[in-house]
Amino acid sequence: MSKPSVSSLERAWECPASCAIRTQVHSTGGGAIRGDRIHDFAEHVLSGYETRDAALAKVPVEYRQTCADIDWSALVGDIVTASIRCEVAYAVDAATGNVRELGVGLKRAYPESSETEIVGTNDVEGLLLSGVPVVQDIKTGQPVTAAKDNWQIRYHAYVQYIRTGAPVVVGRLAYIAEDGNVTLDSHAFDAFELDDFPSQLRGVFARIAKAVEEVRSGLVVVSEGPHCRYCGCFASCPAKVGMIRSLAPALGEMAAEAGEFAELTPQRVGEIWMRFKELQPMVKRIDEALKEYVRSRAPGEVVQPDGKVLTDVVSGKDYVKGDRALALARKCGATDKELAECVERTEWRSMRAVAPKKTKAKKGEEAV
Ligand code: SF4
Repeated sequence: MSKPSVSSLERAWECPASCAIRTQVHSTGGGAIRGDRIHDFAEHVLSGYETRDAALAKVPVEYRQTCADIDWSALVGDIVTASIRCEVAYAVDAATGNVRELGVGLKRAYPESSETEIVGTNDVEGLLLSGVPVVQDIKTGQPVTAAKDNWQIRYHAYVQYIRTGAPVVVGRLAYIAEDGNVTLDSHAFDAFELDDFPSQLRGVFARIAKAVEEVRSGLVVVSEGPHCRYCGCFASCPAKVGMIRSLAPALGEMAAEAGEFAELTPQRVGEIWMRFKELQPMVKRIDEALKEYVRSRAPGEVVQPDGKVLTDVVSGKDYVKGDRALALARKCGATDKELAECVERTEWRSMRAVAPKKTKAKKGEEAV
């Protein structure tokens, strides 16, 4: 059994088998590297280890613009500066509810913890100007479960609830976008929500123990969902492996039939189309699952038969915001004719399955 960390608590709850089946690998992909670099920058600036400019100079050039543009007033503007602490690691004991501070800036190199302790690191903590304790997790990628229902945020809110004795703790997810904009997702956790957190942790341990027993008896029950992202069990997960195995023959059959297209009747093409559409989401899921796997391995580890190395590439593109550009152009006096010259129409074709229209029955006839 692998004990979950704070960041994998949600997955452990949703799919306890992920802590029971073998092969655990940790993400070192591009998304994780980008996130780590932006975290490091924010931590150094907020903790006062370095000036903003000195910290910025150390950020790899591909992430520097995002860091330079971070909206600090949105990120920490309402937190008392002197109260801010970053990257503080804790252990919460599910058996007793006790909280231990493990250190600051440990970079996930946690000291030993007991079997019932869950360890994790809080990105930012402090006191709001109103005096209420706040915990904040910085995110640089895809949205995660809302703060209100987020295990990681609830964990850190519980830590401050115990340490400060405050009746309410604000938990936040702070999303830093590519352009440095910050969006906050906040929830004020009260005593009612936090009191039974240790018992919820015990619930996670109980689920994992059950999954371990099932795996021992040869039964692996997994539960797929958004929590599969960055799961280290991909290579041993029956759902992922089975999905790939089952899809290949079905697509193979279809490709063979489609190769003899002239021989097919319109009715058979209709059948193949319907089956193909059923399988398409599975192709997408396999695409996502394979990407997750590659991201979870060391760079350069997954190589195609032609020798090319599968690489997780992070790229971005700048778009002009149409509505804002239009408003600006109007403000600057652009005429409708001038604006119309800036518009280009793009058309595309798609195929949809449309139910045939029912013809209206005349009196004495049946509807078709
Ligand atoms: S990849 Fe498999 S084991 Fe991991 S969380 Fe998803 S379903 Fe569970």
